[in-house]
Amino acid sequence: MHPALQPVYDEVVSRNAGEEEFHQAVLEVLDSLGPVVQKHPQYTDAAILRRLCEPERQIIFRVPWVDDTNQVQINRGFRVEFNSALGPYKGGLRFHPSVYLGIVKFLGFEQIFKNALTGLPIGGGKGGSDFDPKGRSEGEIMRFCQSFMTELYRHIGEYTDVPAGDIGVGGREIGYLFGQYKRITNRYESGVLTGKGLSWGGSQVRTEATGYGTVFFVDEVLKTMNQSLDGKRVVVSGSGNVAIYAIEKVHQLGGVVVACSDSSGYVVDEAGIDVALLKEIKDVQRGRIGDYAEARGAKVHHVTDGSVWDVPCEVALPCATQNELDEREATTLIKQGCRVVAEGANMPTTPSAIQVFSDADVRFAPGKAANAGGVATSALEMQQNASRDFWTFDHTEERLEVIMRGIHQRCIETADEYGTPGNYVAGANISAFTHVADAVLALGVI
Ligand code: NDP
Repeated sequence: MHPALQPVYDEVVSRNAGEEEFHQAVLEVLDSLGPVVQKHPQYTDAAILRRLCEPERQIIFRVPWVDDTNQVQINRGFRVEFNSALGPYKGGLRFHPSVYLGIVKFLGFEQIFKNALTGLPIGGGKGGSDFDPKGRSEGEIMRFCQSFMTELYRHIGEYTDVPAGDIGVGGREIGYLFGQYKRITNRYESGVLTGKGLSWGGSQVRTEATGYGTVFFVDEVLKTMNQSLDGKRVVVSGSGNVAIYAIEKVHQLGGVVVACSDSSGYVVDEAGIDVALLKEIKDVQRGRIGDYAEARGAKVHHVTDGSVWDVPCEVALPCATQNELDEREATTLIKQGCRVVAEGANMPTTPSAIQVFSDADVRFAPGKAANAGGVATSALEMQQNASRDFWTFDHTEERLEVIMRGIHQRCIETADEYGTPGNYVAGANISAFTHVADAVLALGVI
């Protein structure tokens, strides 16, 4: 690491003890920025990196609620408002038992750069709770969301902070959260949350955007190799929002997704994952990936040990969660012919796995570039809310596609400019950093 950056990283580790995912996210960015601080000493002089690594505001709150057996349950809620130099804080809410401050800070930190890459006026933030929605009834989910919003509402607003969904928070949860916000404030302030339903302020394509956007990015990567998705064998991890729509877009562009997963294992479907069936099982029945295998019968295996990355493919799309693809799995993927990896999830690839891909000249697209389509479409939802408009599916998808192809272009050009051609990690980190850093500088020491 560049000598001007090492003290920044050391300070992050000592001031945020035990928050390993946050350290990892910071390290990944700092590792790319050596050539930038060399070329632009003003960023170091103004302590821009130290300022970017310290959230503007961190809110932790109690979320009390009553379960179906009349027991009082207590969860912990978080909102980290990381940086608002480019616009209101923007980033999702995650409901998962693994959520603690370090996870929320890693996600919030990533979000600053991802949002900058979209070129749209949005700052970075993230939130969530250690609440586990699995196995909870509709009533319990609604009461939890209402209690969560009863505290969160005072911190958010269309000009302040605009949350959306993430793991464990989909359209149903956004509905309960928005309902409670509207009730408490007595305002139909659509722009306070994104990922809303289409009949109450949502945008076309928001549900599909992260998965679709990741695949548009992959399509651009393949073009630089004079290839396309047509006929490509693809493996996707996860089977939630991002995974489902990544699979759908791969199929639309002529590829075949032969495997996907959840935390209980993975399925291999050589005929191509049946997206309509997967949606029905996951979104309507709220079932598991094993139910998919059962519905498909003898043609499909449900594997409960091992890793989805053992399935041979040419393109791998990790779309589940952080650190789900390690060095061993990266080596297996390469041995079996994988040439392109794009992160639909946030930080799913461990640093040593990224190194393995880089050493083997596998094209690796980091999440802050590849999965930025979700937040970009959230910003389009905010635009529609602000102008009280509602765009068609085709128009919105076209905007998403232009944004994703633009992000790819910026990554390539920046990587070239800083002497690391074809390195999407460096291209994304440097392009995003300079964009935010210039705004932070312009706004003075605040
Ligand atoms: P969902 O909750 O819809 O789906 C998550 C999927 O990942 C599920 O299949 C889940 O399986 C699986 N998963 C979660 N944790 C683990 C784990 N520890 N091990 C194995 N599988 C796991 O979430 P999303 O699809 O919305 O989010 C997926 C990723 O994409 C996250 O990293 C998120 O931050 C990122 N992302 C999401 C965006 C969005 O618009 N939704 C935008 C940009 C990034 P199970 O049900 O068994 O837990």
